[in-house]
Amino acid sequence: MKTDIIVNYDKCGDPRECKKCLQICAPALFLLYSPDDESDDPDVWRVDVAFTDLCTRCGDCVEVCPKEAITLV
Ligand code: SF4
Ligand code: SF4
Repeated sequence: MKTDIIVNYDKCGDPRECKKCLQICAPALFLLYSPDDESDDPDVWRVDVAFTDLCTRCGDCVEVCPKEAITLV
């Protein structure tokens, strides 16, 4: 079953300081992304989710996120 992983960017804030979802996801679906890699503006940095068909729905990302920013659908 395909899983949609929704990240609430308003809650996440600056993912460069956290990265917990990137570190805990075994299939490594989370990517740190900015359209401008040189930018220091936290608002342009995002956690993107790729290859969602590999998600096992383990729920680890939801549990580890300190901001409650991740929802599985
Ligand atoms: S539910 Fe598990 S496999 Fe799916 S994105 Fe979260 S940590 Fe990764
Ligand atoms: S764990 Fe939550 S707060 Fe941390 S980078 Fe991921 S989405 Fe953002």
